[in-house]
Amino acid sequence: MDNTYDVIVVGLGAMGSATLYQLARRGLHVLGIDQFAPPHALGSSHGKSRIIREAYFEDPRYVPLVQRAYECWHALEQESGAAIFRQTGGLMLGAPASRMVRGARLSAAQHGVPHQVLSAEEVRQRVPAIRPQRDDIGIFEPRAGMLAPEIAIQAALDMARRHGATVHLNEPLLSWRAVGDGVEITTRTGTARAARLILSVGAWATTVLKELELPFVVQRNVQFWFAPLRNPAQFTPEQLPVFIHELPNGLTWYGFPDTGDGVKLALHHHGESVDPDEIRRSVSDDEVSFMRDIVERYMPDANGRLRDSSVCMYTNLPDEHFIIDRHPLHASVIVASPCSGHGFKFASAIGEVLADMAMDTPVAFDTSLFSLSRFSH
Ligand SMILES: Cc1cc2nc3c(=O)[nH]c(=O)nc-3n(C[C@H](O)[C@H](O)[C@H](O)COP(=O)(O)OP(=O)(O)OC[C@H]3O[C@@H](n4cnc5c(N)ncnc54)[C@H](O)[C@@H]3O)c2cc1C
Repeated sequence: MDNTYDVIVVGLGAMGSATLYQLARRGLHVLGIDQFAPPHALGSSHGKSRIIREAYFEDPRYVPLVQRAYECWHALEQESGAAIFRQTGGLMLGAPASRMVRGARLSAAQHGVPHQVLSAEEVRQRVPAIRPQRDDIGIFEPRAGMLAPEIAIQAALDMARRHGATVHLNEPLLSWRAVGDGVEITTRTGTARAARLILSVGAWATTVLKELELPFVVQRNVQFWFAPLRNPAQFTPEQLPVFIHELPNGLTWYGFPDTGDGVKLALHHHGESVDPDEIRRSVSDDEVSFMRDIVERYMPDANGRLRDSSVCMYTNLPDEHFIIDRHPLHASVIVASPCSGHGFKFASAIGEVLADMAMDTPVAFDTSLFSLSRFSH
């Protein structure tokens, strides 16, 4: 490997694959490398489904970005023929004063997102699979739904290749250094140079970006698939929207309808801190029991046989926002850690943002929320 490119993208998961695709379709000479062979099940982008929603409880500033992401996912579907998005509607559920309900209402109001506010009784009638708390309120947004992460990553890489991108899989980045106005990377097979380098390495930002001393915490998260115990018709994508439910004890759980593999359920921001290279991939009986207790209380008819489980990683920052910025010492290097447990839905639009940054084109979104400077001492 001894070549010169316009841009090198290291890490071809959700963010890197979308970025490589955007750069290649603009006609740039690009190289993408990954230590594994995406789509794989060792990072943060596996498990068959991810929620996409607009009434963004985390912060209204995400709404324009997710609205662009919808358009970009659709464009990728059109070009590749892959089925990435499925509209199911989305239900954000919690006490009236919860972050979930207040935040979703704020984003919906500020950006005119179509939605309905449902009482607990109305939730029970509309979504009989869910047993909300007596005082819960539901924010239902009809345009929400689920994305298929593995299919999306494969489609982006396929289209990137079709537009001329070079892709090297199973090729870890060993090191990089600034050379003049550009960058040189080293892998086991040699070196490559480019005018710009994008580091979208997911949970491995903890090692690849170590010198930036960022307060990343990689968290182990388990996804569970349960066979419905009763009333399977209540769990179809036509009957059960994707949902996120903030509980009175502070836990948040979420889920997806059964598209053939069972009802997928998980806890948000719940799990031990881990090293991505040493993470425990097996799921214990205690973890299954913990999840079952919540299912039994709030969705009892889903509490059937455990069909599958899978361990994944959140790369969290203390404010639960992302990092998308230039390296403070090397402007030709762009760092992207759009995770904190909620990044996938944006990946198609973040690919555009990162491509714009690499090409020194003005970015169409306010990315100040994602700046590195918020962590400078
Ligand atoms: C269980 C779970 C549920 C989630 N649910 C949602 C959801 O419903 N909606 C939502 O929007 N988001 C969700 N998220 C978050 C979302 O999935 C992540 O934000 C997103 O997938 C992160 O993508 P990434 O590209 O940063 O990381 P990844 O997709 O993990 O990609 C990083 C890539 O970098 C490669 N890499 C690392 N180091 C090197 C190196 N040295 N050399 C070469 N390659 C390297 C890795 O092999 C990997 O392929 C969820 C996450 C998890 C874990």
